[in-house]
Amino acid sequence: MAGREQITIGLSAAPRPGAVDRGADGTRTQLFTEILTAGPLSRTQLAQRSGLSQSTVTKVVNPMIEAGFVTEAGEQIRGLGRPQKLLDVAAGRHTAIGVKIGPGAVTGVLTDLRAQVLERRTRLLTAGHDPSAALSAAAAVVWDLLSGHAGARDRLVGVGVGLGGHVEAGAGRVVRSGVLGWSGVEVAAPLAAATGVPTVVGNDVDALAVAERWFGAGRGVDGFALVTVGPGIGCGLFLGGGLVTGADGLAGELGHIPVQAGGATCTCGNRGCLETLASDDAVLRHAAEAGGPAYPGIVAVIAAARNGEPAAVAAFEAMGEALGRGLATLCNLVNPRRIVLAGERASAFDLFGPACNRAWREHAFSSAAENCELIVDETDDSLWARGAACLVIRDAVGAGRA
Ligand SMILES: [Zn+2]
Repeated sequence: MAGREQITIGLSAAPRPGAVDRGADGTRTQLFTEILTAGPLSRTQLAQRSGLSQSTVTKVVNPMIEAGFVTEAGEQIRGLGRPQKLLDVAAGRHTAIGVKIGPGAVTGVLTDLRAQVLERRTRLLTAGHDPSAALSAAAAVVWDLLSGHAGARDRLVGVGVGLGGHVEAGAGRVVRSGVLGWSGVEVAAPLAAATGVPTVVGNDVDALAVAERWFGAGRGVDGFALVTVGPGIGCGLFLGGGLVTGADGLAGELGHIPVQAGGATCTCGNRGCLETLASDDAVLRHAAEAGGPAYPGIVAVIAAARNGEPAAVAAFEAMGEALGRGLATLCNLVNPRRIVLAGERASAFDLFGPACNRAWREHAFSSAAENCELIVDETDDSLWARGAACLVIRDAVGAGRA
């Protein structure tokens, strides 16, 4: 877990501890987010929405117009007053690249400033995912994206990299990634050197939480928790207007909450974490324990469960039950108004959803689940890379770097 709404990642400053910072970077990012999610807006509307004075809004917004992040788009005439110019995101003036590094592949997208995908490239990591192979593939993806789009490099604000694990965003390095088997790996500096493009790195779930906040199911709400299901269990907390990261960027490690004494060994090295009961590997293990055949992978278990094969059905029910207890724990700790469920396995919600809902409601304290809305986001897999693009867009806007 790393990153937050007002975070500065990588290039511009050392990481700041704590959840929310309202410095100059934060104000720029806050206003940019308002314009992005609710624009076009007049300066008066922007002041009202942000709670800032109109003079502060003008002082912050004007350099953003000069930098080409924001543009004046049309006028608003209200009553007898002077017409007001409307501010909107200058989507096409800059581009960004988002790269998701996973154990099997590196996926990259070239986007505009609204993180709309212009190009997409993938390199498979067939020969393994050690740091040198994965970073070489990431650099190649960046080159592929730039070579396919004339003029993109001149307008590029940078590259954002998202991956699972504990990321020290300010230092541009991975402290530890269970899913990749990395520890103490420099990411931002070697990639920037290989591509000649400013690069930031962040936790992939936090990046996705920013994307959900800007464009997805977290849009327009004060707070939500993002929970991802698939190869691992991830969680990003967007509360009180900012992404919550904790003292060392480790807040929201829902997947590593210990739930079963003496349980299976987790990618983190401990035993009995929620991830060992609710990840894809857990579903495969549950299916075998329920007497099923040797399914070759998670896709086969999904197909079997939809065909009503009892071991596969039971495996998803066990996974749903564990996930539901995890959601109850989450609700009991932070009481979110909304949970967004996303990730590779969200589209199998028909299989694990009923058991998940049952366990969630049963174990949540008082009204913590009752008053919480669950939204399932089944968006395609370019979403992770798009989230990584949001990291660098936010960083560039926050730092005033064009
Ligand atoms: Zn664990």
